[in-house]
Amino acid sequence: MNIRFFIACIVLIILAACNNNNNKSAAADSSKTALAQPVPGTPIKYDSSKRYIFLTWDDSPQPPGTNICKRIFHEAGVKATFFSVGMHYNIEPRRKRLLDSIRNSYPEFLLANHSFSHAFKDNYNFFYTHVDSAVNDFVRAEKEMGIQVKIIRLPGRNTWAGKTETKGPKTSENVAKKLAAMGYNIIGWDVEWEMVKGNSPKQGASELANKINDKFESGYTNEQNTMVILAHDRMFQKQPYMDSLKAFIAILKKDPRNVFETIDHYPLVQNK
Ligand SMILES: [Zn+2]
Repeated sequence: MNIRFFIACIVLIILAACNNNNNKSAAADSSKTALAQPVPGTPIKYDSSKRYIFLTWDDSPQPPGTNICKRIFHEAGVKATFFSVGMHYNIEPRRKRLLDSIRNSYPEFLLANHSFSHAFKDNYNFFYTHVDSAVNDFVRAEKEMGIQVKIIRLPGRNTWAGKTETKGPKTSENVAKKLAAMGYNIIGWDVEWEMVKGNSPKQGASELANKINDKFESGYTNEQNTMVILAHDRMFQKQPYMDSLKAFIAILKKDPRNVFETIDHYPLVQNK
């Protein structure tokens, strides 16, 4: 073998080895970064001087409502939870991208489970009397949407269930108990921002904020110092209602006791 050719080969081998080491250290760095990412469901410590507010918005992905709410929450710097529906997700690529962006936004936003079929398209009585098919509907939603937490909101039922409690309407009790036995937490709501006339919000911003303050003061919530608020993404598509949502958050933010959290930090979920 020509000596020059031999030396060139050796140099190439050394360069390749160095490059490989660089790749390895880059991979190690990126795995460190991955480890540093917060994991949904990691418990937080509560501060008894604070009031914890959980904005839980249902039925996503429903563009443009979901995109608008996400933007408003982001601009206001508040955390929120999107309870999503499988059959709304797998319709078209932009909806998949929207849900992927929610999943990837934790700890700002949390993606949670609101069933695959929305109780067989709002057929509530049939859905809740067929326990196994209802349970399978939630499991399918979890798998297809890549939901990382075992947190469910039942469609059409204000039910709470977990290891430590089951509360809510009798009609959904068997489904809730079976899901709880499988390790799921079912989250109801303390206050609903109701819908009227084609998905417009019924209450104004200050009316709803006053109701929330009254409930906190009276202690009439599912858990002390916590408030789960239910609304739907599609309520805030028109400008006046977007403004109402912004005003509502601004009023709540003025009180230094108020902290916005995602629902994986709700006491029922943390006490599992
Ligand atoms: Zn719903």
